[in-house]
Amino acid sequence: MIRHHLSDALLTGYSAGTLPEAFSLLVATHVSLCDECRARLAAQDAVGGALLDRQEAVPMAEGALTATLARITGTAPEARPVSRPAPGLFPEPLRAYVGGDAEAVRWRPVGGGVRQAILPTASGASARLLYIPGGTAVPDHGHRGTELTLVLQGAFRDETDRFARGDVETADEALEHTPIAEAGDPCICLAVTDAPLRFNGLIPRLLQPFLKI
Ligand code: ZN
Ligand code: ZN
Repeated sequence: MIRHHLSDALLTGYSAGTLPEAFSLLVATHVSLCDECRARLAAQDAVGGALLDRQEAVPMAEGALTATLARITGTAPEARPVSRPAPGLFPEPLRAYVGGDAEAVRWRPVGGGVRQAILPTASGASARLLYIPGGTAVPDHGHRGTELTLVLQGAFRDETDRFARGDVETADEALEHTPIAEAGDPCICLAVTDAPLRFNGLIPRLLQPFLKI
């Protein structure tokens, strides 16, 4: 049951292809887990498609004419089957970046039992996977730009709410928080930022340049 979703602005940017690669990866990963945002994105795509139609011819998908005619005549076929995520922890868009599921991740320790793996994306924003042992806190920090955190396993809490698999937390300059993984399974998240974080403690601040966060 996903309770924290993507903003309209993110879905519009994704649909228009204007997001940095790291943000696109997070949006695609959330959408593959979330029926609600998949439907919202389809609506966005339809609006964008209508605008495009006035500008240039676009090759139609096979069956598009039949589907359109069926819709006009009121005999629309069943909604197309949604693509189910492959079994395992990581949905397909993320799998392609990692080269497999969770066991393929090459984690690096960042202190306190927390591990991370930076994913290769174009500059402008960065993407990393975070592994936070149950009961462990990520050092408290603020944000210079936007930070999106998508939970893939376990759950964390911070000053704002609880976030579990599929939930996205959107943090900006206004939020200072200390995410803490719930006791139990390690919490694994995909986090993307378009600016470095602002750590409040001295040690994390000193380490930051080496950790690339
Ligand atoms: Zn959603
Ligand atoms: Zn944060």
